[in-house]
Amino acid sequence: MSIKENLEKVERRIAAAAEKSGRKREDITLVAVTKTHGADMMNEAIALGVTDIGENKPQEVRDKFDSVLPARWHLIGHLQTNKVKYVIDKVCLIHSVDSIKLMDEIERQAEKHGTDMDILIQVNISGEETKSGVSREELPPLLIHAGELKRVKVKGLMTIAPKTDNSVTNAVHFDNMRQLFIDIAQKKYYNVNMLYLSMGMSGDFETAIEHGANMVRVGSAIFGERDYSQK
Ligand SMILES: *Cc1c(COP(=O)(O)O)cnc(C)c1O
Repeated sequence: MSIKENLEKVERRIAAAAEKSGRKREDITLVAVTKTHGADMMNEAIALGVTDIGENKPQEVRDKFDSVLPARWHLIGHLQTNKVKYVIDKVCLIHSVDSIKLMDEIERQAEKHGTDMDILIQVNISGEETKSGVSREELPPLLIHAGELKRVKVKGLMTIAPKTDNSVTNAVHFDNMRQLFIDIAQKKYYNVNMLYLSMGMSGDFETAIEHGANMVRVGSAIFGERDYSQK
């Protein structure tokens, strides 16, 4: 299958899932995840209409940025404070913020570059030990802290659901995220706007959309298996 065919298929599936949940295709942002793939594949996807691309490593953003056609870049993977400088002037949204320390470093770098930075707080909704992100209990201090920041803008939540097989669905985790998203919006924290709920990957993006996601991160369903040989 070509990227074109894959993309068309993913587009149709997103539209169907959106419709099923009473929304429109335009209400859902597709972030095409391009990690490990070269600029050629990325440019092919962008030429086919992809507007948003996601990388999980700050170094990949830094290294590929200048070879890729204009697009909105998203940093979706774990971010160490000492790598914020690689992405601060390149990405439009950091999905993976999980500590006050990281919020403060993003604020510092954004100030230095005279830019604002939109972020999502990553929540470990399943409680899996291997997953990064904050627990529900750890979330309020980060949201309160946002009120003290000027450059950093909290725009929503992100989660990575557990890998599933056919017998298990992540619907319950997605529902919990949606509820959390609604609860936070109602509390009206200063400088916190619940605009984006980023959840769902190749294996489960339709379920995620049906359970409230408005931003999905899809890699292998568009680009095929990842190529780690370059590493
Ligand atoms: C790789 C990755 C994805 C996309 O995964 P696929 O299963 O290939 O769609 C989504 N989110 C994050 C954080 C990732 O690292």
